Amino acid sequence: MSLPFQNLLNFSWFRDEPVPAPIKQAAQRKPHARKTVQQETPSLNWITHNTLSSQLTVPRPLSEIFAAEYRALRPRAPMPTFDVRFYKFTNVNTTIRLREGKALVRLSDVLEGAPENVLAAIAHILIAKLYRKPIDADHALRYRTHLGSPAMTERVEELRRSRGRKRISSARGRFYDLEAIFDEINARFFEQKLERPVLTWSTQKARRLLGHYDAAHNTIVVSRIFDTATTPRFAVEYLLYHEMLHLKHPVLVREGRRCVHSREFQRDEKLFPELDKVKVYLKTL
Ligand SMILES: [Zn+2]
Repeated sequence: MSLPFQNLLNFSWFRDEPVPAPIKQAAQRKPHARKTVQQETPSLNWITHNTLSSQLTVPRPLSEIFAAEYRALRPRAPMPTFDVRFYKFTNVNTTIRLREGKALVRLSDVLEGAPENVLAAIAHILIAKLYRKPIDADHALRYRTHLGSPAMTERVEELRRSRGRKRISSARGRFYDLEAIFDEINARFFEQKLERPVLTWSTQKARRLLGHYDAAHNTIVVSRIFDTATTPRFAVEYLLYHEMLHLKHPVLVREGRRCVHSREFQRDEKLFPELDKVKVYLKTL
């Protein structure tokens, strides 16, 4: 089943769609010029405030960090010019592309103020991917640990809440009403203890993402492909039940890894009486 959150390790190293306007050229900016940086959203204020203590020393320019990681990976190859900037993405995006001897790097601004060794890890991962080289396990772990930290998780949620747009269609489909089914399941399995989030059928007939719970928007989305006359009711019930378990069992972070379907989650999931029928049915889709 799908993950309740989008995959935060969203690396891409070639990306042609237009990217949002840069908010600053962090690489070469001198520390004293920081005051002129526009604080556009509350979440950015929060980030700056919280990272001040780690920036008492003058941060090393990002372009230098990238050049050093490039050298480590490619000792003799000609060095491209690194143009590294923070962008306002709606998640932890990082991209790299080569153009006319220039390496253009775009980092989500949630990574701004990250410790230097985390930025070095990102540089290593992006450059390794670009040149199809194996990714060093220590770098990968360092990056994952940083992303999985509670502060970072909170920051990303905040960012998605303030920047992301959630497309809500309706809880009432043509054949099934998600709110009615939610209430029923809440009574049957949860002693009516769950607070009802926003419930909606997906706008697209998603075949891969059958359902998901988005904590940032407190929304459960169920794929519209289940809103048909031939869909057995237990299938819709199960999809909601699964997502409702995400309300009951929030994502745990253990050793930097996000544990989405914990042991307790899986134990509860087995309590759904028609689970075997559901599995058979989902395979027919
Ligand atoms: Zn799930």
